[in-house]
Amino acid sequence: MVKKGEMLYVSTTDAGLAKKAECGGAVSGLLKFALESKAVDAVLAVKKGVDLYEAIPTLISDPKDIDNTAGSLHCGTVLMSKLVANYAPYMKGKKLGVVVKGCDMMGFLELAKRNKVNLDNVFMIGVNCGGSVSPVLARKMIREKFGVDPDTVVKEEIDKGQFIIKMADGSHKGISIDELEESGYGRRSNCRRCKVKVPRQADIACGNWGVIGDKAGKVTFVEVCSDKGADLVTKAAAAKKIAVEPANPKGIEIRAKVEASMYKLADKWRKRDFAELSPVLWETIKTETARCTKCYACIDKCPVCFPVEDKFKNGGTTMVRPGTLPVDPMFHLRRFAHISDSCINCGQCEECCPMEIPLALFSHAIRTEEDAFFEPKLGKAAYTN
Ligand code: FAD
Ligand code: SF4
Ligand code: SF4
Ligand code: SF4
Repeated sequence: MVKKGEMLYVSTTDAGLAKKAECGGAVSGLLKFALESKAVDAVLAVKKGVDLYEAIPTLISDPKDIDNTAGSLHCGTVLMSKLVANYAPYMKGKKLGVVVKGCDMMGFLELAKRNKVNLDNVFMIGVNCGGSVSPVLARKMIREKFGVDPDTVVKEEIDKGQFIIKMADGSHKGISIDELEESGYGRRSNCRRCKVKVPRQADIACGNWGVIGDKAGKVTFVEVCSDKGADLVTKAAAAKKIAVEPANPKGIEIRAKVEASMYKLADKWRKRDFAELSPVLWETIKTETARCTKCYACIDKCPVCFPVEDKFKNGGTTMVRPGTLPVDPMFHLRRFAHISDSCINCGQCEECCPMEIPLALFSHAIRTEEDAFFEPKLGKAAYTN
């Protein structure tokens, strides 16, 4: 019987699924079993859209359809949690399995605090996350840095610190993420600062870090994070839907080292991003947000922002006049005051802003500063997202 806290190597026993999966297919295998055994009524995952730079959320109730979602889309920047919150009123006690990155998981926790989702009805299958790449920037990066037409790429992956692309003729090219990021490409800026690399508040956390030797690429490293997660893994193994063995102790050690080095890297980016901002934060916010066209995408996508409709969108005070452009500075100042103490640095606001205003940078900087103020003993590292 599998227990909470165990570290495992897991693979699907479904040969067809194994071919499509990113590593061992543990995520897809478990989701399929959860549907078959009625542990969940539906699964929310992503599948490839028109090309591999587009990740489309998809709701699945037929276990066969899980096969279309296998594999990792590193340009998939969609946030699952707000999506679930928007549809939660229609779920009526149904159980949902969801694949979550660290930011998706943090979003669910914040939504649960606001009674927007009931976590008893949500099964979170976590995937470790070193970062995702903005789709538009990914295409530009592949054209300019790799010298390759992005439409000829058939697979992308992130491995051993490199962003790697594979072409239809079997050739591949890789460039180190550090080099890409030094020249303005690579992971989204919020991802560089993110410190939720292993989503341990999900029911299980799955990844490839720590899979070593002849198992590399063939199994998924699974950390069992809850009793609910342990139960699903135990039952799926008993039904022979997945194969389970203890993780290699050396692999566990390596995974911990990689995770620690990712935290250091995130601290480096925080220092750099926040230092540039620090003396001129409010001036910068005022200047940058002056471009705002009041499209409200940042409000609609934010998992911690649920404004009273009239106050944000239709004005409601003389300091935020309805229909007025350029935007009144108070529109944004009020928003930052309202959300920054629980900003999870998911990057959705920045990603969706048509005016390319660095909104996540602002709210993350304010959140980090507030945490350091209220928890001075922990210093600037107090908040771990
Ligand atoms: P599969 O059975 O292939 O299932 C993968 C699942 O992930 C599918 O359900 C699919 O819908 C879902 N998915 C794919 N892309 C996304 C997305 N963008 N957002 C939400 N869900 C998605 N592991 C590490 O150990 N270290 C890392 O640095 C790391 N970085 C990652 C970065 C990203 C953006 C993603 C999506 C995953 C990352 N992973 C990382 C996890 C790893 O790539 C595998 O997802 C994990 O090992 C599970 O493998 P599997 O074969 O069991 O998954
Ligand atoms: Fe991954 Fe964190 Fe970026 Fe979310 S914010 S995609 S968890 S690195
Ligand atoms: Fe995410 Fe932006 Fe909201 Fe912060 S403010 S939680 S980065 S959408
Ligand atoms: Fe303004 Fe950008 Fe927010 Fe739209 S997404 S309301 S343009 S800041």
